[in-house]
Amino acid sequence: MTQKLLIVAGDGIGPEIVGEAMKMLDVLQKDFGLALEIEHALIGGAAYDAQGEPLPDNTLALAREADAVLLGAVGGPQYDSLPREVRPERGLLRIRSELNLFANLRPAMLYSQLAGASTLKAEIVADLDIMIVRELTGGIYFGQPRGVRSTDSGEREGFNTLVYRESEIERIARAAFEIAMKRDKRLCSVDKANVLEVSELWREVVVGVSKDYPDVELSHMYVDNAAMQLVRAPKQFDVMVTGNMFGDILSDAAAMLTGSIGMLPSASLDEQGKGMYEPIHGSAPDIAGQGIANPLATILSIAMMLRYSFNRADLAAQVQAAVGAVLDQGLRTPDIHAEGMQRASTAQMGNAVVAALRKQL
Ligand code: NAD
Repeated sequence: MTQKLLIVAGDGIGPEIVGEAMKMLDVLQKDFGLALEIEHALIGGAAYDAQGEPLPDNTLALAREADAVLLGAVGGPQYDSLPREVRPERGLLRIRSELNLFANLRPAMLYSQLAGASTLKAEIVADLDIMIVRELTGGIYFGQPRGVRSTDSGEREGFNTLVYRESEIERIARAAFEIAMKRDKRLCSVDKANVLEVSELWREVVVGVSKDYPDVELSHMYVDNAAMQLVRAPKQFDVMVTGNMFGDILSDAAAMLTGSIGMLPSASLDEQGKGMYEPIHGSAPDIAGQGIANPLATILSIAMMLRYSFNRADLAAQVQAAVGAVLDQGLRTPDIHAEGMQRASTAQMGNAVVAALRKQL
């Protein structure tokens, strides 16, 4: 079956890293039989420059038609003084909400070759491979009522509402169980059920959904303990599922366990498994145009796309293995460079991964 892929490279290093990802896609199509129909469109500052808005209608229309979207990054200092509604980041937030991407997948994985880059001891993080599934469109960031009001005594108070409907909890739980089924079949649901009624309901609904996934081992953990366990013994986790705010915090902490922002992909999925795939880093304007950006987070985003939107876990594993092989060869872009390793440009890194992938034929 031919899959439709929309590529939106964006700004800064976006076009450079996406260029390397496209070399991979080319090999996957020509040599590995992946059937793709690829379109390109503008987003972010590049779209503003060309069409006056950060998410033009034609980009959104193509994204709606696609089975998956690959995004580079958006933003840059030249756009920081624009009115808020046409800033590049607005294009990103809008495409996520227009496509109903409610499940945010944030893997924290660390190739053992790079364990020295973490601030934690190498044996705690080497070969780390966890997946945090964060609910992205509900919870306290969106709950009503919210605001700042005056109390009877004339003091100001700020307030937000943490609210989750059963249906919202059920769909994120289901997404997380499905992901666990494609991995090591262990799911830890993170909440604050000892204090919050929302979390009590969260737990009840997650337990209900678990009945449909008897092969997945479900556990529960309070968020404060989860934060401690993530830095104490992160390898105990396979998949974690949690609400919007807890997930925001835990996924950043988990990402930093790996110590290298240029290595981490992410995905946001809708209810049908359509996804937008992107590196977690931004447009890195400080190094844009120099040909030194690390393309591996974007290449690993393709592996996630193969696994979660195209149901090709076999090809995903091959792409991940190719990245591992290149690290074994000692090739490093400047952001992950260490003594004794060989410095590589963006293109040299991309070419090496392509060559390592071809070797698996
Ligand atoms: P950033 O992630 O772009 O950069 C942070 C640091 O990491 C920089 O020193 C950068 O050079 C380095 N870095 C990032 N990716 C790298 C890579 N692939 N290879 C090597 N080094 C890399 O974050 P920032 O500097 O805070 O933001 C820059 C711009 O990106 C801003 O306009 C911001 O709004 C935007 N941004 C976009 C996204 C996105 O598109 N999803 C995410 C975060 C920030």
